[in-house]
Amino acid sequence: MIDPAALQQIQSIIQNGKRFLLTTHVNADGDGIGSEIALSHHLRDLGKEVHIFNHNPTPENLEFLDPRNDLQLFEAQKHGELVREMDAVFILDISDWERLRDLGKLLRALPVAKVCIDHHPAEDRMGEVDIILPEASSTGEIVYDLLIKLDARLQGKMVEALYTAVLTDTGSFRFSNTNSRAHEIAADLIARGVKPHHIYQEVYERQPANKMRLLGQILNNLNFSKDGRLVWFTVTQAMLRATGTQPRDTEGFADFPRGIDGVELCLMFLETEKGQTKISFRSKGRIVINGLANRFGGGGHPYASGALVDGPVQEVVPRVVAEAKEFFA
Ligand code: 5GP
Ligand code: MN
Repeated sequence: MIDPAALQQIQSIIQNGKRFLLTTHVNADGDGIGSEIALSHHLRDLGKEVHIFNHNPTPENLEFLDPRNDLQLFEAQKHGELVREMDAVFILDISDWERLRDLGKLLRALPVAKVCIDHHPAEDRMGEVDIILPEASSTGEIVYDLLIKLDARLQGKMVEALYTAVLTDTGSFRFSNTNSRAHEIAADLIARGVKPHHIYQEVYERQPANKMRLLGQILNNLNFSKDGRLVWFTVTQAMLRATGTQPRDTEGFADFPRGIDGVELCLMFLETEKGQTKISFRSKGRIVINGLANRFGGGGHPYASGALVDGPVQEVVPRVVAEAKEFFA
């Protein structure tokens, strides 16, 4: 439920502003990008100027949501001045300044109205208006509720974007965050023109063959704890090079081994270009793991979390695996 006072504040921020900036977390996903696209359509319908700045290129499987190339890669030197001219900022699917990188530093110091809409359990306040609802399946769910309350015209790319947000963040309506609202919203979006098979094909069925080859390698080399409850694997830069893949091609891989009987927790370790280690934590739904992610400077949802650790995979993997095993005990 969106707090009525927050709704009123957002209404007046939109009414009084002309130029709006939207952004989401690093490695933007379907929820972050879907939420941005949906909200941007509403603001443009009202005649507002909208700039969407992200920190990574748009994943190829989400490009269909952005045929006009509205999503821009943020560069501090190129866009800094423009950002300072904004009347208000919407921060979507994230409530952690760190995960907004350079843009976060700039926005934090900017004396304009900031609205944060998110479903991650948050510790700090970010904006003048924070709508943080951890019980929501996705940020897309909250943005949908907001757009309905704002009497937005829900159609076209806007409904496709909202459907994609809910679809991807619930793992196609199968993760533990899947709630009745997620299905009600999906039903309404379908009634408004979304074709589920079309979205599914765009998001999940246009993957590069090389990605599947990399996945094959990974599945052939999974590591299991003795009791089989913990499974982990490492993706090195060498593996990416050998298969002609990018880090973003590993999206969704950490979810795969959950399909194995007896597995409760899966860890994916991804070696970054700079030699850091990005960890994805995935639980089948019995063990809350964001506490474990917190121990390594990360965070996230109870059953899907992440962390970026300074240190090479050779060093980080044994350390985290040891802690994860202890976590079970
Ligand atoms: P993924 O493993 O897909 O990158 O991330 C899963 C979830 O973990 C994200 O939705 C996000 O909530 C959280 N997450 C991922 N990386 C980080 C990180 O570096 N810091 C924090 N606080 N959360 C993260
Ligand atoms: Mn999300």
